[in-house]
Amino acid sequence: MSAINFVVIGYGGMGAYHVHNILPNENERIHIVGTYDISEERQAISQEKGHKIYKSYEEVLADETIEAVLIATPNDLHKDLSIAALRAGKHVVCEKPVALNTAELDEIVAVAKETGNTFMVHQNRRWDPDFLIVRDLYRNRQIGDLFQIESRVQGANGIPGDWRHVKKQGGGMVLDWGVHLLDQILWLVDSPVKDVKADLSYILGEEVDDGFFALITFENGVKAIVEVGTSNYTQLPRWYIKGIEGTATIQDWALNGKMVRATGREDVAAPKPVQAGVGLTKTMAPPSELAAESIPFPEAKADFDPFYKNFYHVVRHGAEPIVKNEEVRNVMELIERIFAVASAK
Ligand code: NAD
Repeated sequence: MSAINFVVIGYGGMGAYHVHNILPNENERIHIVGTYDISEERQAISQEKGHKIYKSYEEVLADETIEAVLIATPNDLHKDLSIAALRAGKHVVCEKPVALNTAELDEIVAVAKETGNTFMVHQNRRWDPDFLIVRDLYRNRQIGDLFQIESRVQGANGIPGDWRHVKKQGGGMVLDWGVHLLDQILWLVDSPVKDVKADLSYILGEEVDDGFFALITFENGVKAIVEVGTSNYTQLPRWYIKGIEGTATIQDWALNGKMVRATGREDVAAPKPVQAGVGLTKTMAPPSELAAESIPFPEAKADFDPFYKNFYHVVRHGAEPIVKNEEVRNVMELIERIFAVASAK
């Protein structure tokens, strides 16, 4: 079957990344016809790269040869642009966060159902190698059942860009990075959320949050700590994972880190007390040599299709989407809960 004729809406940082880094790997399935951006400067850059330039969004929607669009504009525009495209008979890939809240998402999904067109959100961090390792640990229990999962991203560069500082444009770090980490956690833990505690940070004194901390307890007892910071000059590990038989630290996206598992040997001598500051401790001494062993991380492998391959099969063959709109809604609902329980600015 032929490739899907595709137009990228918003040729900014992420729109251009789709065009130049993601979609070239999918050229059997996705054919980039052109781009549309309200910025003349961005249009000129896209044209220089050889893309067809649309003069207006209406022109894209009126082009009957176009089957699908990617919405990669600021967050507050996702809803209206998606609905207009669905109504014009196009399939839609929408960047994260899908919208500003669940009510907006419900409006989009209602139109997708009514028109029968596909609407899929680009929750691309489900394919991150570090996350795939954690997913493997959760499912295959190399360090036993996981009971605490800590997921963090920490930068020292503040909130990037322009619209990300503006509340009504859907700025702030919960909607920016939080949506990725929360999507990963909800997709990982196969249990409903029981309780959420959270706090937002406003270190930079802006009208939007510049980071947050959430403690999510699931009904199966698993606890997740999710943290995003933009004023961190040194970083905690990307992941710190505690299983009942071991611990894993994934330091960074380059997959540095280590995993240590209890050997369960019975002939192990108790650890000796160690000097701890001005005191002595046995409780906090490292495990005796025979009591624990380092083991390698599992291979970071996705047992599911890449995003656009899946999108193609959803559109052409009615396959099940990997990113389901119900899942995206659960993430939006969790985000609303985080905003609600976090103390006001
Ligand atoms: P950006 O500011 O770099 O780009 C946005 C572009 O949209 C700009 O070029 C702007 O001129 C254009 N634009 C604004 N209004 C428009 C309109 N009405 N019609 C057409 N174009 C319009 O922002 P960005 O970093 O590229 O973010 C865009 C979207 O992508 C956001 O929703 C963001 O959350 C998402 N994003 C996702 C990831 C990811 O990993 N999935 C990473 C970065 C950004």
